[in-house]
Amino acid sequence: MLKKVEILSVGTELLMGQIANTNAQFISQHLPEVGLGVYYHSVVGDNPERLTKCLQYALSRSDVIITTGGLGPTQDDLTKEVIARTLGLEMIQDEESANHIRQYFKNTGKVMSENNLRQAFFPAGSTIIDNVQGTAPGCIIEHEGKVIILLPGPPKELIPMFNRHILPFFQKRCDSPLTSKFLRVVGIGESMVEKKLLSLVDKQTNPTLATYAKDGIVSIRVTAHDEGKIPASLLVSDMCGKIVSILGDSVYTDNDEELENTVLKLLIANNLTFSCAESCTGGMLAEKLTAIPGSSKVFKCAAVTYMTESKTEMLGVNPEIIEKFGVVSKETALEMVTGMIKTAKTDVAISITGFAGPQFADEPVGKVCIGVCTPDCTTVKEFKFSGSRDRIRTLSVVYALDMLRRALLHLDIPN
Ligand code: ATP
Ligand code: MG
Repeated sequence: MLKKVEILSVGTELLMGQIANTNAQFISQHLPEVGLGVYYHSVVGDNPERLTKCLQYALSRSDVIITTGGLGPTQDDLTKEVIARTLGLEMIQDEESANHIRQYFKNTGKVMSENNLRQAFFPAGSTIIDNVQGTAPGCIIEHEGKVIILLPGPPKELIPMFNRHILPFFQKRCDSPLTSKFLRVVGIGESMVEKKLLSLVDKQTNPTLATYAKDGIVSIRVTAHDEGKIPASLLVSDMCGKIVSILGDSVYTDNDEELENTVLKLLIANNLTFSCAESCTGGMLAEKLTAIPGSSKVFKCAAVTYMTESKTEMLGVNPEIIEKFGVVSKETALEMVTGMIKTAKTDVAISITGFAGPQFADEPVGKVCIGVCTPDCTTVKEFKFSGSRDRIRTLSVVYALDMLRRALLHLDIPN
């Protein structure tokens, strides 16, 4: 039975830190769907001796080896030849691949060198995988109970080949494929999420739970395989129900989507135009929302009122309020958000004002005030974030979006 996978990435540029190994990340993310576990990631430079050693080592400890890179036409592209030699297989030309490569050069008008035809040679007995995005095909070798898969380096070539050929290849042989769902949580830190879910995590082997935190959002992966007659999907949805009953409305999606997508959908569903007035986030909120296709249906405008006087000039914030309560205060955030509603003639608005740091004079770094105004309610809230300038700005955007989500869904906005 195939169980342990090793991803062996070939490329000196990976070792030099010139590029990140996103291929290994991508492949690892998807293999659990077909019941496979990734046990090892290895990286080796474009060097035949070291590649041979890595391959021998991989063959000794893994059932499936997926290599990435080094399938191209140049001298340093040596993955296929080294693998054939290590496995004791001959290299044989595949006529169909040779024609494909000739056709590619004809279509693109590029000049083909004889070297390019090296790409049509494969270890004997390989199943060849077409590369529609480039010239270097990949291949699958089944050898003495092991599966060795060779994929090219460029992600835009690797990803479609993996999706179209490699996943289905394993799907066919997998007797208990995994089903996963991803819940996402906002407003609760990762350690608190883990603590609250401890009773569920402790007892479970199927489904399994894993949490992962990034930028103020905790993702919870729930993965199961079929158990007797109970389908994996039922086990997963049952577990998701339990999680939601513990974490409540902090779970904003069970569909692995970004918070800004959830909020945008709510605005569109309610047919509400949106605008925002940002200070310390300098347009990050506007950027997040406008990055989503279709945001023009509801996104009206944004103002980055960075200097104190611009809050008065553009949003009509009363200078006495700023003088009395400070530029980072709930009172100023309230004036900013109501000012934005009037100035932009918009249904819904958010305001953000805060000290993102680093420390200047006696400013309380991390203090951020956020205002939200919808046709039904107006709220302001003060936060105390910690961390770098970047993190404080990122969290400000996330919590502003969450306040709006809660306001639109008529949920409590906790203090
Ligand atoms: P080519 O035909 O383009 O030469 P190849 O299969 O020989 O493809 P490499 O020469 O090893 O692949 O790498 C080509 C490019 O692919 C690299 O310059 C890099 O941009 C990208 N690449 C290679 N390996 C990885 C990886 N592990 N993760 C992400 N990108 C990668
Ligand atoms: Mg190459």
